Amino acid sequence: MSDMSSAPLSAAQIAAGVRAGTLKAADVLEQHLGRITDREGDVHAFNLVMADEARAAAAAVDAAVAAGNDPGPLAGVPLALKDNMCTRGIPTTCSSKILEGWKPPYDATVVTKLAAAGAVTVGKTNLDEFAMGSSTENSAFGPTRNPHDLSRVPGGSSGGSAAAVAAGFASVSLGSDTGGSIRQPAALCGVVGVKPTYGYVSRYGLVAFASSLDQIGPFTGNVEDAALLMDVIGGHDPMDSTSIPEPQPSLVEAIGQGVEGLRVGRITDLPQGADPDVVDRLELAFEALQAAGATIVDVEVPAFGYGLTAYYLIAPSEASSNLARYDGVRYGMRVDAPDTNAMYSATRAAGFGEEVQRRIMLGTYALSAGYYDAYYGKALKVRRLIADDFDRAYTKADVLLTPTSPTVAFEFGSKGDDPLAMYLCDVYTIPTNLAGHPGMSVPYGTCQHGLPIGVQILAGTLGEQVMFRAGAALERSIG
Ligand code: GLN
Repeated sequence: MSDMSSAPLSAAQIAAGVRAGTLKAADVLEQHLGRITDREGDVHAFNLVMADEARAAAAAVDAAVAAGNDPGPLAGVPLALKDNMCTRGIPTTCSSKILEGWKPPYDATVVTKLAAAGAVTVGKTNLDEFAMGSSTENSAFGPTRNPHDLSRVPGGSSGGSAAAVAAGFASVSLGSDTGGSIRQPAALCGVVGVKPTYGYVSRYGLVAFASSLDQIGPFTGNVEDAALLMDVIGGHDPMDSTSIPEPQPSLVEAIGQGVEGLRVGRITDLPQGADPDVVDRLELAFEALQAAGATIVDVEVPAFGYGLTAYYLIAPSEASSNLARYDGVRYGMRVDAPDTNAMYSATRAAGFGEEVQRRIMLGTYALSAGYYDAYYGKALKVRRLIADDFDRAYTKADVLLTPTSPTVAFEFGSKGDDPLAMYLCDVYTIPTNLAGHPGMSVPYGTCQHGLPIGVQILAGTLGEQVMFRAGAALERSIG
């Protein structure tokens, strides 16, 4: 186990200090770059470290403060971006060979918003290729290692973003969550991770995996920082037709409110099979919320257990369509061949890794004439049942508590030959994506071997405020 002491300042503390002129953004940045120099060789959180650009951004923040201007609520906060978010003129790879050499001509909306709030981007983080995976082992550029134990995975697909925060390379980071890719790596790396309500955060400039499920959200060292990030990145964006038009109330203001009277649901028919240590920590979380004034209620979500199956029809179907654009003509790499069709196949065979090819084939099959109704259509019906079951549960409970991941961080290669074993990592996170609801993972102690365990808090559509209140209360209960 490596030394994770010398706790860095929180993002809120950094921003407050920089805005007040008592901290220099440049100094904060150098501390983070120093940790990158020391440990990035072991961890491999990044596909690209942007030291020069970050130094220029930090200098601009300090200059703004010196000139009497306010750089914004994230002034000088070092930030890492999952490498599936577009950054203008800077490579965006999705950890795939197929995007080799591609530089987006525009910034994702979240990137624009974070820069406007004074955040300093230190780099682009590693992921499972096109965000397909739960361990970051599917990256074309090699895996990311868990900063708590380098022999273990950080989770995925946003493993680089989770590891970057856990290792202190960045104060905060962004990931994307289609079926658990923020919450599961957050749990395995011992940080906070949030998947907002579908439409809460703009997807403009997020490279699409499964568009009806994808959401961007933060990784942070604590719940307050997650609220701070959500307040900056949330909100309507005319560039994303699925973004929610109504303004959202501040989460930073919500987190102080406590959980007195809140109804916390226990799902009685939740799929079994989580590690005993994970189950124990979940029980302690229920007790802590009860001690803080919440009421524990039993609820049923009967279709929860069908989430995984429905997801592995819906997500690959959408992916097979979204990834059709990588054809050797419009983006990145091309493998030359005698005719156009041969060029398409040679490019896609060389450019996509095994898991991405598997998803494209699964999705193409599920959408094909004759099978559409039996597979894709059926899965959509199950999706509806899951959302309805959750809606019924949320008439009895304000939030639900479950494990985030059935296990702690596992060893490299331990699920390598068995796609289904890997898919099962997301058994507790996927149903939320299908329902479009928010979810977050809050670190809640460790297993007997010292590896982090996360508790998942779920809420109904736009239930971010109650979800964050419960998250903050859990965090307070373990200090
Ligand atoms: N692990 C899941 C998958 O492989 C979820 C990925 C994600 O949320 N991007 O599809």
